[in-house]
Amino acid sequence: MHAKVWLIGAGPGDPELLTLKAVRALAEAEVVLIDDLVNPQILEHCPQARVIAVGKRGGCRSTPQAFIARLMLRHARQGRCVARLKGGDPCIFGRGGEEAAWLQAHGIETELVNGITAGLAGATQCGISLTLRGISRGVTLVTAHTQDDSPLNWQALAQSGTTLVVYMGVSKLEEVQQGLLAGGLAAHTPVAMIENASLPQQRERRSSLVRMCLDAAHFKLRSPAILVIGEVAAVDNSAARLQWTTVRRGCN
Ligand code: SAH
Repeated sequence: MHAKVWLIGAGPGDPELLTLKAVRALAEAEVVLIDDLVNPQILEHCPQARVIAVGKRGGCRSTPQAFIARLMLRHARQGRCVARLKGGDPCIFGRGGEEAAWLQAHGIETELVNGITAGLAGATQCGISLTLRGISRGVTLVTAHTQDDSPLNWQALAQSGTTLVVYMGVSKLEEVQQGLLAGGLAAHTPVAMIENASLPQQRERRSSLVRMCLDAAHFKLRSPAILVIGEVAAVDNSAARLQWTTVRRGCN
């Protein structure tokens, strides 16, 4: 065992969506720092490790980023193998890139491990194909929430011709809707709202751009959720969904 920090994507929630590489790194870890949106079931892969919750719901109310960084550094400098588990993919709205650069600048060996990001998993779990021949030739992953509240270029997004996957959008639904409508996206554009993707409590609601705020309120949409906006969200691939439901039942 040697000093190293793994920045690991834990995927969207379903423990079976973890990569083999993540499982191997967890088995090596002596200290595991676990974020909010990580399914604690994943910890079965590191029974040997000391686990520290660093998320808002994990005991410490909103652990400051600088504190987490110093914690990783301290354990690594004491010669330990540290795993930092993040929801989804560490480099999709997960600060993985920042943390890797900071650790490397402090002379710590660091390795990023991909996870399946919530936007991709959420769509698939609902039978939505984010790209679809003849319908969507690309995907844009975008966050509705920025640290400095700088505005998004809604017009560019509306006119991109790609499927939009919006993260951190639950408290910004009106802004997303108004921005895209003003940017020229058609009012009837299909929208899928997917909450707790890949977890047993997953819920989804199909809607349209013009109705999404109303529908989300009726549905009581809660975070964590993603929005899939584009023609593909109207395609209900029920065969794929049926198969997914069957597989899950088989597992339980
Ligand atoms: N790194 C993560 C994203 C972190 S930002 C990833 O790659 O998935 C947090 C946002 O991710 C949430 O506000 C929500 O929009 C989305 N999210 C994370 N887990 C989710 C889940 N299981 N279902 C739906 N959305 C999720």
